[in-house]
Amino acid sequence: MKLIRFGNPNQEKPGLLLTDGRRIDVSGFGSDYDEAFFGGDGLERLKAWAAANATTAPTVDASVRLGPCIARPSKIVCIGLNYADHAKESGMDIPKEPILFFKATSSLVGPNDNVVIPRGSEKTDWEVELAVIIGKKASYVSEASALSHVAGYALHNDYSERAFQLERGGQWVKGKSCDTFAPLGPYLATPDEIGDPHKLNLWLKVNGITRQNSSTAQLIFNVPQLISYVSSFMSLLPGDVISTGTPPGVGLGFKPPIFMKPGDVVELGIEGLGESRQVAVAWS
Ligand code: ZN
Repeated sequence: MKLIRFGNPNQEKPGLLLTDGRRIDVSGFGSDYDEAFFGGDGLERLKAWAAANATTAPTVDASVRLGPCIARPSKIVCIGLNYADHAKESGMDIPKEPILFFKATSSLVGPNDNVVIPRGSEKTDWEVELAVIIGKKASYVSEASALSHVAGYALHNDYSERAFQLERGGQWVKGKSCDTFAPLGPYLATPDEIGDPHKLNLWLKVNGITRQNSSTAQLIFNVPQLISYVSSFMSLLPGDVISTGTPPGVGLGFKPPIFMKPGDVVELGIEGLGESRQVAVAWS
């Protein structure tokens, strides 16, 4: 299944993207895609509901805005420097253990919403990433059982303000959490839709120029390792997001660096997880 949410910001309704390309409204199912949904076998119940009701459910017009493909989760956990070439372009060592940081959940937006360059920002940057959405509570899970805790996968752009992140002291969270810095979607794809999450091509273009083009085969720490590792420090709750890190080609890595300005158009995609597009606007 491919889960979407649609409608105006903060008023999104749940929907499904069907194999024939039709978007349907699944409000009749009775639950948004939140912690209670994922934690209460929502995917199984939704599958059964769709089998009986998809053909008669209302169609959602293609012009309707997509929201983030899940309701605001308890946390967005991000992995730093998880592609060797990206660590190198950032001038940092390849990590011996996964680097963890948080992104404020208030940064979550729809996949095609504008990205707002924050007030005072001069170094807003892009990061295409594979996001993993947790399906059931994970605490001290083994790598062997980790994938049974996955609800699905989605495309994520881990927008980053490099000066806030690296030049203002303390932790990276300052440069990762600005409003609109986490466009998620277009949809959540359940694991059966994509098969092995470690052989998906991912790419990102800015103003039509390809800046990132890699494969999740290049991840240093893979999805089961990350879930197991993170769950040894905190409980991952249903609906939580782990963003698995970005491949090389971020603006920071160019010489001289390339950062975003109003009017820039960022397009990105991951094999099997669709595409998204954000236009940069100035804060006001
Ligand atoms: Zn990132």
